[in-house]
Amino acid sequence: MSLPTVATCDPERPENASAIRRGGEPVRRISVLGATGSIGTSTLDIVGRSGGQFQVVALTANTNAEQLAELAKRHRAEIAVVADPDQYQVLATALAGTGIEAAAGADALDAAASMPADCVVAAIVGAAGLRPTFAAVRQGRRVALANKECLVSAGQAFMSEVERCGSELLPVDSEHSAAFQTLLAAAPETIDAITLTASGGPFRTYSKEQLENVTRAEALAHPTWSMGAKISIDSATMMNKGLELIEAWHLFPVTPEQLKVLVHPQSIVHCLVSYCDGSVLAQMASPDMRTPISLALAWPGRMPTPTKRLYLAEIATLTFEAADEDRFPALRLAREAMARGGAAPAILNAANEVAVAAFLENRIGFVDIVKTVALCCESAEKEGLMTKCDTLSEVLGVDAAARCLAAAIITH
Ligand code: NAD
Ligand code: MG
Repeated sequence: MSLPTVATCDPERPENASAIRRGGEPVRRISVLGATGSIGTSTLDIVGRSGGQFQVVALTANTNAEQLAELAKRHRAEIAVVADPDQYQVLATALAGTGIEAAAGADALDAAASMPADCVVAAIVGAAGLRPTFAAVRQGRRVALANKECLVSAGQAFMSEVERCGSELLPVDSEHSAAFQTLLAAAPETIDAITLTASGGPFRTYSKEQLENVTRAEALAHPTWSMGAKISIDSATMMNKGLELIEAWHLFPVTPEQLKVLVHPQSIVHCLVSYCDGSVLAQMASPDMRTPISLALAWPGRMPTPTKRLYLAEIATLTFEAADEDRFPALRLAREAMARGGAAPAILNAANEVAVAAFLENRIGFVDIVKTVALCCESAEKEGLMTKCDTLSEVLGVDAAARCLAAAIITH
């Protein structure tokens, strides 16, 4: 069985056609980058329930060597890598006598991502995931992509690398997994629109004035999804949906104008694809990332997960409303960056990462996050940073420069 053929409708971007078309062998050897995070632990939960279906190759984490060692022991990994070199001794001591190799540092992370595996789950948060995920792509097998920053910041370079290396890219982000499924066998010219749903986050009904005073704890309390801190804040500002528009643009054969956002507070319908005959195909599931993760592992098959089954009669009502770009201007900023292309999405992403980190450290308020991103984009334009961005090293250069600009905006 082969993956869906979704040929590109944009001759300028031939690379986005083939990334999702290759047929898959069953995944057996698996690596998880960002194993200690929300997606990483959900992935390992599935692995643990699979009755020995998977053999774990490499697990990685940023700083939490103790948790990483526990996971590596529980899943009998071949190697565990902590990005922070200062944590090497903790990791090595915890793994002593287990036969599991311990390593640390950025190069070790890239090397682990390159180890032969049937599937690498790319679940590092932020632009820190770029280098290791590119390394995973270069090993030419399957990449289950959770790290949306690869597509947002480096979309063109990333999709070209996927094409060049013959890797098979399967989206893990729930909306994109849903789109992937509802686009099966679709001819590009028959697609009218792809609509990504958004929960609306914890502040969906808040006025602009109320948004001025929300706290870190309130922003982290997502109503429907359990996720890492960064993406939870992005969901509250709706920057997450903006990033996902850019992600979808690189993955699927549509123009920016064909990508829509619809607020759906119950998070049951994840994406809708509208076709030229008036049909709309939707994918539904209870909000649990183990469903899209399992699809990326089992494709072209499916595997059981403990995701709560959907009883629509119990839920009774599914509601939908238009997104409000006035109260949630992050959506507009992301659309502008997508239209601008080149370095603009990388600048948007870098500024947002810096601003979200500052908010999480209580250095700026909630509404300052998106204000910082807007100011950073303006300032990057004046500084001549909005250049083309075709290679990973160009993206990393722009990312670093935009971080400096955003940090300066926050301290002034
Ligand atoms: P998280 O914060 O829970 O976990 C992040 C992981 O990355 C951890 O293992 C951490 O140790 C590692 N990490 C962080 N910084 C690192 C660095 N500098 N170097 C190396 N490793 C580093 O994040 P998450 O919520 O699991 O999200 C992971 C990615 O998946 C993000 O890109 C996010 O946008 C995407 N995603 C997450 C969800 C979700 O439900 N959590 C849904 C869709 C997409
Ligand atoms: Mg999502």
